Order: sequence, then structure tokens, then C-alpha cells
Amino acid sequence: MPTPLPSPYFIAASTPAAALVGLDPQALAQEDFVTVFTGNKVAVRSQPLSAVYSGHQFGVWAGQLGDGRAIVLGDLPTANGPMELQLKGAGLTPYSRMGDGRAVLRSSIREFLCSEAMAALGIPTTRALMLTGSHQRVMRETVETAAVVTRMAPTFVRFGSFEHWLYRGKQAQRGGDELKILADYVIKNWYPEFLGSANPYKELLAEVTRRTAHMIAHWQAVGFMHGVMNTDNMSILGLTLDYGPFGFMEAFDANHICNHTDQGGRYSYANQVPVGHWNCYALGNALLPLIGTPEDTEEALDAYRPAFGAKLDELLHAKLGLFDARDGDSALFDDMFKLLQANHADFTLFFRRLGDLQLDGGVEQDAPLRDLFIDREAFDAWAGQYRARLRLEHSQDALRRTAMHRSNPKYVLRNYLAQTAIEQAQNGDFGGVHKLLAVLERPFDEQPENESYAALPPDWAAHLEVSCSS
Ligand code: AMP
Ligand code: MG
Repeated sequence: MPTPLPSPYFIAASTPAAALVGLDPQALAQEDFVTVFTGNKVAVRSQPLSAVYSGHQFGVWAGQLGDGRAIVLGDLPTANGPMELQLKGAGLTPYSRMGDGRAVLRSSIREFLCSEAMAALGIPTTRALMLTGSHQRVMRETVETAAVVTRMAPTFVRFGSFEHWLYRGKQAQRGGDELKILADYVIKNWYPEFLGSANPYKELLAEVTRRTAHMIAHWQAVGFMHGVMNTDNMSILGLTLDYGPFGFMEAFDANHICNHTDQGGRYSYANQVPVGHWNCYALGNALLPLIGTPEDTEEALDAYRPAFGAKLDELLHAKLGLFDARDGDSALFDDMFKLLQANHADFTLFFRRLGDLQLDGGVEQDAPLRDLFIDREAFDAWAGQYRARLRLEHSQDALRRTAMHRSNPKYVLRNYLAQTAIEQAQNGDFGGVHKLLAVLERPFDEQPENESYAALPPDWAAHLEVSCSS
């Protein structure tokens, strides 16, 4: 059961998330909803539960570690099947270990905003319906206050859920009944297409591997860094899950590490790709007793590289406004990343402004884009290569620009934007959260009145550090 918080208050609700489950976003601000979605009252017919899991943290087996602070309330019907509603930070559960079962306002704002921002970017993710707070004090590095995010997903089952039951089955020295029960439950509800197949568990692993690869291709294409790709943060549906010390790439550096706690850079931008595969191996290891043979398990895991490669290639073509694929495109992409790396150009601004490039434009017309580079001649050389490629498909400026602006967001949740809204909220003003939510709901629109939200980070942001503390 959730544990009530003193005098909970409404902070924000997501209109698109509310629409998904047929709720009126205005009504969510009313006391009844605030009470239920803080965990102060349990709705009729709701049977709260929390689900235990284990996992590998930073590549090391960590045993049982979750879910010490998330409580599922039940589900609501949507056009695409039921959505589970889950309160994150609703108090102690049987799995809280040394934790307090709470989440702080700071990290809850980040999770709330980023979930909805990612959804608007078209990236597979869990959703955030609403955010409430309380003056209840919560101890982290400093004293903070409590908040609760109502998250939504068809299921919150993780790779670590499977690892947990493999490990428990081994401890009990019996066949791992729970592992099979969990796998059958997941297949029946979310992968029913495999029910009749010769080896549904192998199919499950192959499909989860593909979805994970696709999700990570999306991350790379938009410059999203998760920050803590532990196996317990990997969704069995291939959704971006558990927003903590995430970041969006600004000055491009393939080795950028967004999580201050990740000193070795295991989860750097570039490492997300192999780590995604590694995590699928951990899932494969957990499913091996059900799949039967290491050969079948390996074969399912082999889906990763081709799925990632094909999706990233598709996304990069769209980002560059290339409507067909040609030999030499991957060299063009490689040269582009080398150029971005050498110049530490801002990732989001680069792709957005690239959409404004004109085939016959010169140095002057290119200026806003060109000025992102220290080495202007290197930019000119790559731009020449790009223009030659565009001519091969008789690209038209206006058409290409429209298409590229639908693939390259103008607005992403830069850390300094989140930080500014958080500091306001900590002083009792939620206007910044509302404003950011509205801007990030339409990331591809020009929104001339919100130009400042697309700006490069200010100098103070260079010292921002985000860690696992939440
Ligand atoms: P995270 O780093 O947020 O992915 O946390 C991993 C797991 O640690 C979660 O599933 C929780 O079960 C547990 N955890 C994190 N913070 C707390 C807390 N304040 N109280 C209880 N459990 C927590
Ligand atoms: Mg987690």
C-alpha cells in the first residue's frame, strides 16, 4: 500500500498522457486525483502492488535491488490496450531495503518532463501522467522535498525482473517456475504473436533484442544519453525507462558521459550501443533455461546489430533529408560525425540548422550553421560533399527543409532548462515546469515566441553535474 504524504499538492499534468487514458487533464488538478495519485487514498477496485527485481549495475551482478519505491495501482483501458499506472516515490515497499521509498522533487521533475519530451520526439518511452509534491522532507546529499510521478506503461517488467527469478530459482535449487510464469505472462499479454511458435521464448528474446536496438538507435539519433543503462532499467517492451541522470548531447563528443557517478564512462554516448547488446545478453542468460540451448539464445541475440544498423541508417537519412539510400552514404555520415567531434558543435542546433541549408547557398547563407564550427573550412568541405549527394537525388530545398524539420527537433530538454525549472519549483513556482512541458510537447515546431528555449547553454551550465541521487 502507498504511504500518504502530508498535504499533497498538484504540480503538473500531461495533456497528451491524460488523453491516452481518457482522463481530463484539467480534472487531474482536483483534490480527488491529487489524493489518489500521491498515494494518500486508494481508488475503489485498485489493488496496489510492487514488483521485485534484480539486475546488473555497471556491469556487475547486484542481486535484488528493486522495486523499493514504485507501486502499481492497476490499469486503465486505452485504444492500444491497458496502461498500467504506477506511483514512483509512494513510500516503503517490502523491497525498499535501506531506502525511504521516496523520490525528490528535483528528480521527479526531470522524469516527468523527459518522459513526455521523449514521447513527443517519437521515441519509445514510458509516460508520465502527472506530478504531485509535498512539503515532507527527504534526505539526500541535502534536505529536499518529496514528490510523486504517476508513470504509465503497458508494463514495467524489466530485464532485471527475469534475472531476479533466474537467480531465485537457482537459489531454491529448483526449476525456476516463477521465471516461466513471468515469461508466459509477458508473452501472453504483450507478445501474443509468439504464442503458437515452436520456441516462443527464443522469439521473445529476438524481438526484445530488436526493440532495444531500435530504441538505442533513436537515442543516438537525437543525442539522448540515458546515464544508467543497468539491466534493471531496461524495459521488456523496449521503452526508455527510469529517467535519472540523463542528458541530451550539446557540444558533440562521442565519449561524453552525462552521469557524474559513471566515472569509467560505461554509459557514455558511444558506449550505449554495445551496452544495449550486453544488456540483451543478460536477458538472454536469464531466458536460457526456457529457450533451451545456448545456440538458440545466441541466434536470437544476433538480431541486435542488424536491427540497430538498419534503424540508425534510416534515421540518419531522415535527419539529412535524404529520401533514398546510396553507396557512400555511410561515409558521408562518418565524415559528419568526425566533423562534429572535432569541432564540438552543438548536436541539436547542427541538425536543425542543416535543414535550412540551400543547395546553391554560399558562405553567407550558411552562416548560422557554419558558425557552429571552429574550423570553417572543414565545414565547407563536408557541406560540399553533402550538397553533391543532395544533387544526386535532385533534392529540393523547400521539400527537404520541411521533412528535416520533422526529424530534427528544435527543442530538447537541455540540462540547464530542466535545472532552471527545478530551482523555480523548489521556490514554489511551477510556472517553469508548465512552460517547459508546453514547449517540449511540440519539439519540431518553430515556436518563435520560445526561441530562447532553443539556445545554447549559458556558461553556468558547464558546471552542472547530475548524479544517480534521486
Ligand atoms: P534507480 O537508480 O532509481 O534505477 O533505482 C534502482 C532501484 O533502487 C529502484 O528500483 C528502487 O527499488 C531502489 N531505490 C532507489 N531509491 C530508493 C529509495 N529512495 N527508497 C527505496 N528504494 C529505492
Ligand atoms: Mg531504475
